Amino acid sequence: MCLYERIHFPLCRHTETRLVQYCHFARNDPGHQCFGAWRYLKDYEQTESACDECTKRAPGFTPAHRMYGIPRGR
Ligand SMILES: [Zn+2]
Ligand SMILES: [Zn+2]
Repeated sequence: MCLYERIHFPLCRHTETRLVQYCHFARNDPGHQCFGAWRYLKDYEQTESACDECTKRAPGFTPAHRMYGIPRGR
């Protein structure tokens, strides 16, 4: 099963879905399509920054060092 995380950004009111890990079906598929079950690993709020899109559109809106402040195991 593929794992995703969902991040809410109250600053810009966007929601971002990020892939955390493909299951082996998706990993073996050329288009990384998943035909199995998938779920959200976690669902949390990022209150200190805007989403990636808004940060790209308006650099400086979010201090860059904040963007990578979430410890992630990969
Ligand atoms: Zn999958
Ligand atoms: Zn945004």
